[in-house]
Amino acid sequence: MVKSAGLPIVEGDGKRWLARNGRVRSFPDFWGDHRHRSFPNPSEPEITYEKFLEKANVKEPQKATARSYVEGFNAARSDRISAQAVAAADRAASEIEGKKVFRLPYGYDGVIEWMACDLPPEMLHLRSEVTQIRWNSNHVDTLYWTPSSERTFRSRRVIVTIPLGVLRAADGERGMIRFEPPLPGWKQAALRTLEMGHVRRFAFEFKDCFWTERIDGGFIIAPDEESADLVDAGSHRFEFADRLGGRIGGRKDD
Ligand SMILES: Cc1cc2nc3c(=O)[nH]c(=O)nc-3n(C[C@H](O)[C@H](O)[C@H](O)COP(=O)(O)OP(=O)(O)OC[C@H]3O[C@@H](n4cnc5c(N)ncnc54)[C@H](O)[C@@H]3O)c2cc1C
Repeated sequence: MVKSAGLPIVEGDGKRWLARNGRVRSFPDFWGDHRHRSFPNPSEPEITYEKFLEKANVKEPQKATARSYVEGFNAARSDRISAQAVAAADRAASEIEGKKVFRLPYGYDGVIEWMACDLPPEMLHLRSEVTQIRWNSNHVDTLYWTPSSERTFRSRRVIVTIPLGVLRAADGERGMIRFEPPLPGWKQAALRTLEMGHVRRFAFEFKDCFWTERIDGGFIIAPDEESADLVDAGSHRFEFADRLGGRIGGRKDD
């Protein structure tokens, strides 16, 4: 898609770094050698990642590092996320060279703009918030607010792709979308069993690049820090500024 859109793309070096005791050092594998040796089989009963670390007898400080990586990267608490799910995602990523890191230096919105450019403008309803979906077997009425008025859009079908947190919002909660008739019980039950982790993304823009070594497209993990955890160190020069980005996920963001 990026190639078809003719967007410039930068491949990061994807290196891993560990920040500990005020020093940053190269850290080739976050998970250490316990990774594949003892990952639970998909057919085994599901266990949490925390339980997996316990069972695999991973010792500190590797344990804190492994936990920190999974919490920061997956934005999920290690005592909630399934070890099997982490293993499956890791295997799937390896199969498609998913560990490679790329950046779109002019922003990801270029992809969306490229996708939208062939669509008639009236097909897109931007800056609109859906509040209600009334559905029956013939058609669906989607009620939404634009910045100025409430409108309805009628269609044969609707594909709902809002985030889980919004879909699960209770009556009266901000952002809640009312379904009429309500979603079937089995669908609501499935929604209740899914979980969404927290993650906070931050970006700093500096006038000058004060760091001496470029860490482009890699990760610094800081397991001992109280707040900031996984730092996605995209410290590439962008126009006239230098930027550093990071994110906090899992229990540190709870
Ligand atoms: C900090 C961070 C970093 C990430 N980094 C990566 C990465 O490097 N690589 C990667 O592959 N993935 C990454 N992800 C994950 C990726 O961003 C998500 O998996 C992906 O964006 C999910 O797409 P989505 O369309 O399901 O949801 P979203 O992108 O969340 O889109 C949902 C849309 O629904 C809209 N919406 C919500 N409520 C309403 C409403 N009532 N009416 C109308 N519209 C509504 C929202 O405004 C939003 O535009 C990252 C996620 C985070 C948070």
